[in-house]
Amino acid sequence: MADYSIWVIEFARASSPLGLLLHGQTGEREIPYCFTVLRSEDHTILVDAGYRHAGRGRELADLDGITIWRDPAELLARCGAGPDDVDAVLVTHAHFDHLGNIAAFPNATVYLQRRELEKWSWAVSLPRAMDWLKQGVSVEDLAGLLQLAGQGRLRLVDGPCDDVFPGISLVPDFDTHTYGHQHVVIRNEASGVWVVPGDVMYLYANIEGIGGDGRYVPIGLAMGSQEKCLLALDELMRVTGGETSRILPGHERLLWDRHPSRRFGDGLHIAEVCLRPGEASRLPAGGGGGAAGEGGGEPR
Ligand SMILES: [Zn+2]
Repeated sequence: MADYSIWVIEFARASSPLGLLLHGQTGEREIPYCFTVLRSEDHTILVDAGYRHAGRGRELADLDGITIWRDPAELLARCGAGPDDVDAVLVTHAHFDHLGNIAAFPNATVYLQRRELEKWSWAVSLPRAMDWLKQGVSVEDLAGLLQLAGQGRLRLVDGPCDDVFPGISLVPDFDTHTYGHQHVVIRNEASGVWVVPGDVMYLYANIEGIGGDGRYVPIGLAMGSQEKCLLALDELMRVTGGETSRILPGHERLLWDRHPSRRFGDGLHIAEVCLRPGEASRLPAGGGGGAAGEGGGEPR
């Protein structure tokens, strides 16, 4: 067991077709793009890394309708960390907005499911008619993984992996949102279980139902099957005992309502989900009070 402080940091925002997020729905939804920081006495771990708004990352961001972006490595300062402090990045899946920024963390070992790298390598090799199966992934990012392997900094995980770090487990959701997707379960001694679901759950409505009716709605964008997406939601429900706010979906603006949070002058948010015993809050004082050099934080 261990205790991690957990922050969710918003680094970009887009307007997205609601049907991609919630199967069968129409309209648009403004969504944040976030990564999650886990800090214990011994470790600084990211779940996902964001992306760099340049080259292929920028092209994919334009396709996603991204309007605001700030460098995730800089935004780490909002929870008191720097890029050199990060010793691991747990990547839920290979979409550009989760994988594309791993090079910004020079001391980190990257963890990904073996199936995710293998199947995306297959998909991007398919002819043009199969482009649908390649969406959201950058070949440059996949090549970056092989470079990391050459440096001894890539760990390809094969299925479930308990205690990859004390109290942290990797749980596969194969053939759901992506081929080798995984979510991350954190079991804190002081504050209980927390889950970073990756994109197998975009919104609380996926798991709580439309209007909170309790009937799961799968995400709309799945390389795998809707059946597997629903079973993955059911597993998130099981591990949290139905306390859905213990799940921290990185594209859900309701995070800022359900957890202590601040909005900074650049419009981007941070949620302070839990603090390990003895750690002081990193949220700037409310009411527009100053976070030095950050343009101040405001209550949401
Ligand atoms: Zn994704």
